[in-house]
Amino acid sequence: MHNLKERDRVVNWHPYTQMKTADDAVPIIRGKGVYLYDNEGKRYIDAVSSWWVTLHGHAHPYIAQRVFEQLNTLEQVIFAGFTHEPAVQLSENLLKLLPNNQKKAFYSDNGSCAVEVALKMCLQYAYNQESKKNKVIAFKNAYHGDTFGAMSVSGRSVWTQPFKDLLFEVVFIDTPNSENLEDLKKQIESIAGQTACFIYEPLVQGAAGMLMYKAEHLDELMKCCREKKILLIQDEVFTGFGRTGKLFAADHLSQKPDIMCFSKGLTGGTMPMGITTCSNDIYNVFLSDDKYKALFHGHSFTANPLACAAALASMELLLKEQTQLDIERISQKHSGFAKTLNNHLQVENVRQTGTILAFECITDEQTSYFNEIGRILYDNFLRRGIIIRPLGNVIYLVPPYCISSDELDFIYKNILEVLDQFKH
Ligand SMILES: *Cc1c(COP(=O)(O)O)cnc(C)c1O
Repeated sequence: MHNLKERDRVVNWHPYTQMKTADDAVPIIRGKGVYLYDNEGKRYIDAVSSWWVTLHGHAHPYIAQRVFEQLNTLEQVIFAGFTHEPAVQLSENLLKLLPNNQKKAFYSDNGSCAVEVALKMCLQYAYNQESKKNKVIAFKNAYHGDTFGAMSVSGRSVWTQPFKDLLFEVVFIDTPNSENLEDLKKQIESIAGQTACFIYEPLVQGAAGMLMYKAEHLDELMKCCREKKILLIQDEVFTGFGRTGKLFAADHLSQKPDIMCFSKGLTGGTMPMGITTCSNDIYNVFLSDDKYKALFHGHSFTANPLACAAALASMELLLKEQTQLDIERISQKHSGFAKTLNNHLQVENVRQTGTILAFECITDEQTSYFNEIGRILYDNFLRRGIIIRPLGNVIYLVPPYCISSDELDFIYKNILEVLDQFKH
């Protein structure tokens, strides 16, 4: 245990990490609630919910108990030709919370795969009907995951650069605002005949740097697509399960998507799982006496009972009145702090959607993901026992819902102190 850092160096390759210049990974030996503890007993507040997944805190006893019980009952079964109570119950419970056109759930293991499934549903939806529609519309700056399909519909960036020649072509449009809305609709209408679907992160573009746009503008684009028979894929991998202040970003919108993608908070951040839901309009196009019209997708661990049990337990906790009050409380605390930040000389573009708060740190350097400022800020917060992982010069908070108001105040105070160090 004592030499975990060195052993890690020898055998592990970490995600989104330049291994040559990266500091040693911090060995975490346990978690409890909002805290993670390293091998020297130092504790860290997890202000980013461990890459936006943890909802109710680490090592939650209720989720642990439910997974343990499931592990002793049925740990895994092939999902082709077989089913089980946790998967049926989870689909029933989830679909009930979604826009009422969402009728079927398809299981996978992570957010990228939930997106792959959604894209394949749309493209095969066209194929099964002998339509040639195969164009996809997405937002510039979008992030939908790291597999090839998901990368293709993500904004072209330094992350996709090495693979750019092999990514399929996508029509990228700007996120909507009151000025460009009519233009965007015209753009969509001009390619409607060839377009199978439009995929978007609703309200918040997470990995792009927590960029936010208005629900009313998205509604307009959704309406336009609906009229032109372009299918709508709403990627709620990040925004789902309370992050935006409501259960789903869908609850801020009046238009309904055809397909929705979930992962991250789905299991409360305890086990990997993805779900793609869809309407009967989509599902019915795959029903045929022709077996080659079935959806050609599946994973070994499709609808793993342990992950289903974790998701069921997490959703139960999420729907508790106390959790809903906590989400409301965090949103209000964030609004208060946003006002303070708005008056801060080192800060610009303060933005908030529910429990997600983000702002840019003004520096002399040009803004980019590789901006050194991000690393300096990260190290600073880590030393203070706070896990905040800036995207370039964007500092953001996405805390678990169990965080107390005192803990939020502690984070806010430290942010202000760290910013003070950067006074020009
Ligand atoms: C994180 C994320 C994904 C990818 O999910 P993974 O589980 O990391 O593959 C897809 N879409 C959005 C909006 C995300 O934030």
